[in-house]
Amino acid sequence: MNLEEYKGVFVFAQQVDNVVSGIAFELIGKGKELAKDLGTEVTAVLIGYEVKGLADELAAYGADRVIVVDDPELKEYRTEPYAHALSSVIEKYKPEIMLVGATAIGRDLGPRVSARIHTGLTADCTQLDIGDFPLNPVPGQEQKHNQLLMTRPAFGGNTIATIACPNFRPQMATVRPGVMQKAPKVEGAKAVVEEFNPGFTPDNKYVEIMEVVKSVVDTVDIMDAKILVSGGRGVGSPENFKILDDLAEAIGGTVSCSRAVVDAGWKPKDLQVGQTGKTVRPNVYFAIGISGAIQHLAGMEESDIIVAINKDETAPIFDVADYGIVGDLNKIVPILADKIREA
Ligand code: FAD
Repeated sequence: MNLEEYKGVFVFAQQVDNVVSGIAFELIGKGKELAKDLGTEVTAVLIGYEVKGLADELAAYGADRVIVVDDPELKEYRTEPYAHALSSVIEKYKPEIMLVGATAIGRDLGPRVSARIHTGLTADCTQLDIGDFPLNPVPGQEQKHNQLLMTRPAFGGNTIATIACPNFRPQMATVRPGVMQKAPKVEGAKAVVEEFNPGFTPDNKYVEIMEVVKSVVDTVDIMDAKILVSGGRGVGSPENFKILDDLAEAIGGTVSCSRAVVDAGWKPKDLQVGQTGKTVRPNVYFAIGISGAIQHLAGMEESDIIVAINKDETAPIFDVADYGIVGDLNKIVPILADKIREA
């Protein structure tokens, strides 16, 4: 493999029902930083049916070029045709880096594609940098420059591993949603749009979709919420979450929680914030009766404003809080909700 042939940072611009998923913008944002370090550009790969119109949106968030693979076969996500489309793009354009969101679709697509094109894949990354590898070479060992350093929690989150792929290209990673930041939107930005048709043969049609039944979701995904009212073990009981529900209602927020709450069976896992839960970045994050363990902070410390309520003034959550209230949450939270309603 001639590594020199591989150029540019590519991101898989996931769309579902012709709506670009937030992770695509996050990957473009991170991709721009990596591309700047490498002196190259960011290309978004947009795969679907009648999706060309989405290219401007990708450009507005920073894509320099958009490669569009448009075919009726790609209307809904199916592993085979999507893997065929993305691996064909990689074989033709030879990117140096290929990023895919660690969404349900990306977790299915990424490994399949990396196996097809005979490269490695680091799954569920929480940090990406350009740097030298190995980080600390032993005497006589060659250190390669400008490598993609892919960082992810390992062994159930008990350690953090930084992984590189120095001998194969592209360097491929799936990236955890909510961790990377979107670049600011620039209205009217235009990207170079290229259409690419890899050709679809009957071999790419193992699965036919007979019917799509959409689940009815009546709550906001905590990753999309602008205000989160998050409760920990200090809330005391599932019934006592009622005071957090009231505050959330008063302020137009969504309730989330720590892992201790999920482990106790008080709330479902999809409300868990943290290293083994979801990574959130709301405008305001209320941490109520949450001690601030490092695994919890990993999922919320990038929030714009953090408000902590805890009866223990030494709780580590106060180290990251912008506003802290020391006291009993049972007294403070109802007062806060009343004051907000009055305001
Ligand atoms: P506690 O640590 O028990 O804190 C409760 C807090 O409530 C205390 O600070 C106490 O002072 C306060 N309090 C009690 N009563 C009141 C009251 N009446 N008024 C005000 N304050 C009160 N945790 C996560 O949250 N998310 C994760 O994704 C996650 N992943 C993990 C992965 C691994 C590999 C490991 C080992 C752990 C992980 N954890 C995670 C668990 C984490 O280490 C902590 O155990 C957990 O976050 C503690 O939850 P908590 O803050 O709700 O509970």
